[in-house]
Amino acid sequence: MALPESITALIGALNRLPGIGPRSAERIALHLVQAEAGAARQLAEAILRARERIQFCSVCGALTETSPCDICSNPRRDGSLLCVVEQPVDILSVEKSGTFPGKYHVLGGRISPLDGIEPDDLRIAELEQRLTRESIREIVIALGTDVEGDATGYYLAKRLARPRLKITRIAHGLPAGTGLEFADELTLSRALEGRREMT
Ligand SMILES: [Zn+2]
Repeated sequence: MALPESITALIGALNRLPGIGPRSAERIALHLVQAEAGAARQLAEAILRARERIQFCSVCGALTETSPCDICSNPRRDGSLLCVVEQPVDILSVEKSGTFPGKYHVLGGRISPLDGIEPDDLRIAELEQRLTRESIREIVIALGTDVEGDATGYYLAKRLARPRLKITRIAHGLPAGTGLEFADELTLSRALEGRREMT
């Protein structure tokens, strides 16, 4: 006996989400159709509400309900210090480490010719505009520690080089080949403290 079409469609939709394989998709779908109608509606509404309210911060590229975001519009954050990360979620990781007083800039990915991601696909031009508009003293490059993260870091250091601008990179010591989201808070705060100037 095949599953009814509406369940198959739900499984298909769940299966397209990151980290949810066919087995999990099936389990979640079967759970939802047997759960109280209220529970399913709550989930559907939470998804729609978040999707409608969340936008990208016009300055840093973070996910936010109000643009500019809380960090960009906070006068107590050190605007001369800018941490460059790959994805919005990386801001959370650095914030959790509790040691970074500056502001952020989200690139939106990393340079990856094999995947067809070129510098123009990233928010690098926006970063250059910020350098002319804001009085930024130091850029801290906090990208993943794999080959593409390294290559993107060096590309940025070269392209952003300007007199009186210090460009640093967080210290190695992050788990090799991983992104910031997998680093624990202590490791990340040490990596930030141990950042080195790029030449
Ligand atoms: Zn922002």
